[in-house]
Amino acid sequence: LERTFSIIKPDATRRNLTGAINAKFEEAGLRVVAQKRIHLTKAQAGVFYSVHAERPFYDELCEFMASEPIVAQVLEGEGAIAKNREVMGATNPSDAAPGTIRAEFAESVGENSVHGSDAPETAAVEIAYFFSGLELV
Ligand code: ATP
Ligand code: MG
Repeated sequence: LERTFSIIKPDATRRNLTGAINAKFEEAGLRVVAQKRIHLTKAQAGVFYSVHAERPFYDELCEFMASEPIVAQVLEGEGAIAKNREVMGATNPSDAAPGTIRAEFAESVGENSVHGSDAPETAAVEIAYFFSGLELV
């Protein structure tokens, strides 16, 4: 079964939406196989989002991700990477399909409630950044 890396972002943890978001994952057949609440430093958020280092929103994004705790998770299921991105919806909530997490919960294109890996290679790197082998069973 495929695994993907997910983050419940500060705008969502602040509003106590972890359970509602996990319910969406579970309804879609994604199992939460690892999960922890952590408070990233801005530098740690910067490493995680380093692919976006040249984008105009990078600094704001890193500030946001370090503003309050996040929930980091590993989701498992058939076609988990694509399925997770489908359940999340489009990056900008105004473009997100009805019923998706971002359509229902996101506050803006930046504060959009969830992150999900976009490919098998990024999923592997992102899982390894947040979880050790002993935490993954
Ligand atoms: P993620 O990588 O978080 O799963 P994504 O793949 O849908 O989201 P990316 O293009 O990788 O979107 O952007 C990463 C994150 O950067 C977005 O989720 C959002 O929080 C932020 N972001 C993207 N575009 C903008 C923007 N125009 N203004 C502000 N923040 C943005
Ligand atoms: Mg992305």
